[in-house]
Amino acid sequence: MTFRTIKQTIPALETSDGAGVRIRRSIGQHQNIRLDPFLMLDEFGSDQPQDYIAGFPSHPHRGFETVTYMIEGHMLHEDHLGNQGNLKNGGVQWMTAGRGIVHSEMPQQESGQMRGFQLWLNLPAAEKMKPAGYRDIQPEEIPDVHLEGARLKLIAGDIEVDGTMVAGAISGGSTRPLYMDIHMEPGKAITLPVSDQLNAMVYLYEGRARLEHEVEDKPLKLAAATILGDGDQVRFESGADGARLLLIAGKPINEPIVQYGPFVMNTREEIEQTLRDYRDGRLTA
Ligand code: MN
Repeated sequence: MTFRTIKQTIPALETSDGAGVRIRRSIGQHQNIRLDPFLMLDEFGSDQPQDYIAGFPSHPHRGFETVTYMIEGHMLHEDHLGNQGNLKNGGVQWMTAGRGIVHSEMPQQESGQMRGFQLWLNLPAAEKMKPAGYRDIQPEEIPDVHLEGARLKLIAGDIEVDGTMVAGAISGGSTRPLYMDIHMEPGKAITLPVSDQLNAMVYLYEGRARLEHEVEDKPLKLAAATILGDGDQVRFESGADGARLLLIAGKPINEPIVQYGPFVMNTREEIEQTLRDYRDGRLTA
């Protein structure tokens, strides 16, 4: 058993995307700041409508997956075929762009809190051009795992709890993604297995926590992607007010990445082809 410790901390930068939605971007803020197989992690959170109301009008994607986890708020997703997905408090949309999708992601509220995350998960070369697809996951479909001192919402991947395997709402996939939202009670510690085959990161978004086996004065930084080092276990200890954090892991693809905005391929030629396809209306054909 080896406990993972902190390898690198990537504080989220305030930026805006879509039609002016304010976001905090950690992974993906530059093209050399990634954690294979993850390309980007955005946090959005505001109770000011002007920060989110403009939404993300029609835009394309090719070559990867987007995972949108809505903690609070209401967003409507609509694609070029007219497919609609309604994303509400606690729900997840798992979208495989594959060879191409053109979609919009628009807030369905004019006031109140909008809070959540969007993760971009790369696809290996063999899967980049597969047909687009969606999974709209309702909050009640996400396993809620109770541990001593914490609750886990298991969005993706499997985890062994007291000798029993629990499967997340999404299971399997070539990068074996593990994605959980952890709510820790004050002053508790939990140990979770994370296969040493996976690259792993933690995103603390509320409260305070540290990794055990890390020096005392090195807490996890709030609103930052903390990349974990090698190991097969992770042990969190929460502060006096508890903590909420994401644990995200996946098997690295180890292929070259050429990204042009919302298109993520392996070579420059494939990006040029993608731009021609988009221009000629063949992105989603
Ligand atoms: Mn999008």
